Amino acid sequence: MSEGSQDVPDRIRCPRCEREDVAPVGFAPFPNELGERVKAEVCQDCWEEWKKHQMLLINHYGLNLQDTNARQFLITNMTSFLFSEGPAGASIDTSQEGSISWEGSQ
Ligand SMILES: [Zn+2]
Repeated sequence: MSEGSQDVPDRIRCPRCEREDVAPVGFAPFPNELGERVKAEVCQDCWEEWKKHQMLLINHYGLNLQDTNARQFLITNMTSFLFSEGPAGASIDTSQEGSISWEGSQ
């Protein structure tokens, strides 16, 4: 009954919590490749956790989501949070404020 669900498996092994046989998010939260990965590879619990963590980051750093740098900052943190890839996510620690480095300039 579920036509059009290509690419989205019913059950996955979540890269973050490492549980087997869990349901993926099932929808792309943003219209890009990362969104597609979240849809098909991340479990719903971890996505909920990320959304809470994201709110903490936004509040802590006073991020303006209209700002490209702020969005890139969240993407970097999300990739680290969900997939353990790329640079480590920022820790919520005021002593580190202003010391976030934007590494990876190729
Ligand atoms: Zn998970």
